[in-house]
Amino acid sequence: MTRTRHAIAAALLALAVAGGPLVAAPTPAAASPVLTAPAKAAALPKTVGYRIATAELHLWKASTGKAYARIIKKGSTIRHTGVREHGRLQIVLNKKVYWVTFKYTKKAQWVSRVKVGESVKGRTIYAYQVGDSDASKVAVVIGQFHGEEKAGVDTARALMADARTVEGISLWVIPTINPDGYAAGTRANARGVDLNRNWGYKWVKTAKGRYYSGPKAFSEPESKALKAFLADVDPRYVVGIHQPLYGVDSDGVKNTALQKRLINYLKLPSKAFTCRTGCRGTMTQWVNHTLDGAAITVEYGSSPSKRYVTVTARDGLVKALGGHY
Ligand SMILES: [Zn+2]
Repeated sequence: MTRTRHAIAAALLALAVAGGPLVAAPTPAAASPVLTAPAKAAALPKTVGYRIATAELHLWKASTGKAYARIIKKGSTIRHTGVREHGRLQIVLNKKVYWVTFKYTKKAQWVSRVKVGESVKGRTIYAYQVGDSDASKVAVVIGQFHGEEKAGVDTARALMADARTVEGISLWVIPTINPDGYAAGTRANARGVDLNRNWGYKWVKTAKGRYYSGPKAFSEPESKALKAFLADVDPRYVVGIHQPLYGVDSDGVKNTALQKRLINYLKLPSKAFTCRTGCRGTMTQWVNHTLDGAAITVEYGSSPSKRYVTVTARDGLVKALGGHY
């Protein structure tokens, strides 16, 4: 029995125990596909979710190794795991019959996503749920603001590609809020605005250039979209990843315990990032002033190792944010 089949069998067993009678039967010819792929994703990251047309079979594995399954309502998004086959199951739960077709693709994991907004050039900005969406503690990791700082995007993708289930926190991962800058390799967005100087707290208009604030606070679709998303999910913690200053920000820290955990688990020093002359209109300032939760800046070095970015930082962030595997 393959690992896949074993997981499904175990999940069905859990269902049978928890939910009453369970019948598995061959697929009837009339059964239509109940699974449709989402709209084509932008260049990054790869499509990871599938929308279920009738009902969702939600399979997951707890840290105890036990597999579980539950039916989620029509229209929700199934997160998929590292299974490499398609299948169809008939499930009878509380006398109701469900036909569930599922499709897994390789090397993906349990993820659902929401659209945060669009960039100046129309690229979609997504947030991916890689934790427990039912958890009361909500955390957001933003992999990138500045297009040439690419390591945080790799950490975000590593979080998304991890087949282990993050438990204990609802963890939203936004690989980049600056997909235009990412594509062009530029710090700013497509209008030359620094998306970490465009926020509406202590915003000041600055001259065009490397740290251009934009013509007014929240003038840019990317910062406006992220603002709305953050206000909506009301996170306890927000981490914004940058390069290359190498440290965890100690300037204006709202939650010192979070800062200490990040220093510890990300193996970075405490360092004051004062934007040279005092920060104006940054995301962390806005969150710390406006929302209940705490935001903090993490700066990797200029060229962190692949292992650091995709393993140490991935696992370290989960732990620092209060999650576990
Ligand atoms: Zn940056």
